[in-house]
Amino acid sequence: MGPTHKRVGILGGTFDPVHVGHIALGRTAIDALQLEELLLLPNGQPWQKERVITSAEHRVKMLELALQQWPGASKKVRIDRSEIDRAGPSYTYDTLVALRKSMPPSTSLIWILGSDQFRNLPSWYRWNELLSICHLAVTQREHISLANLPSKVDTLLSEHGQQVLPDRPNGSIVLFSMPPVAVSSTALRRALQMHDDVTALMSPLVLEYVEQKRLYLS
Ligand code: ATP
Repeated sequence: MGPTHKRVGILGGTFDPVHVGHIALGRTAIDALQLEELLLLPNGQPWQKERVITSAEHRVKMLELALQQWPGASKKVRIDRSEIDRAGPSYTYDTLVALRKSMPPSTSLIWILGSDQFRNLPSWYRWNELLSICHLAVTQREHISLANLPSKVDTLLSEHGQQVLPDRPNGSIVLFSMPPVAVSSTALRRALQMHDDVTALMSPLVLEYVEQKRLYLS
């Protein structure tokens, strides 16, 4: 039997640019967490990134193109513009509060994240209140271990970790596995700048767009 509460997954990121690792993460999460819906949430002004990021409109357009090449995405996956349409820094906590208000209270909200972000969680604004709004679903990202976690994260996981996502709207942490995909947007931007072959790392439509708009050249 499937979950009794509607499950909505949220995959937040800069997507600068979107790559095969993001898509693999989204696809795996839909299956592993039995999601009815997946929101791809590009951030507006990532307050933790110091470099200048590509405009939101380019990043959204690249996400739309990537979705065109994701079979079955139109049924479950959509792009949520709430962070890019909101002025000021993108705090996940504020976004989740707003999303929670827009949904029936019984909906399970599940914030999906890789191990890099999970290890970094205590630096997020109101990080220890996130579980009062959503669940966290974490997967190992290549080379970034889920062992020897920073102590605050380890304590949070020991208090809230579950083997399986419970039928509740919020409050638990689950780990799920995915085959490792060795790519990051940082590595991809570097490769694009060097004119390396990146065809295995991003969708052909996204690559075409990047070339047409002359993104990531400097
Ligand atoms: P950057 O290199 O610019 O920091 P990134 O590749 O880490 O970017 P983000 O858009 O910041 O991409 O990531 C969004 C989410 O996707 C994060 O939770 C991150 O952990 C996860 N993620 C990104 N790449 C992968 C990957 N290759 N495998 C698994 N998860 C990934």
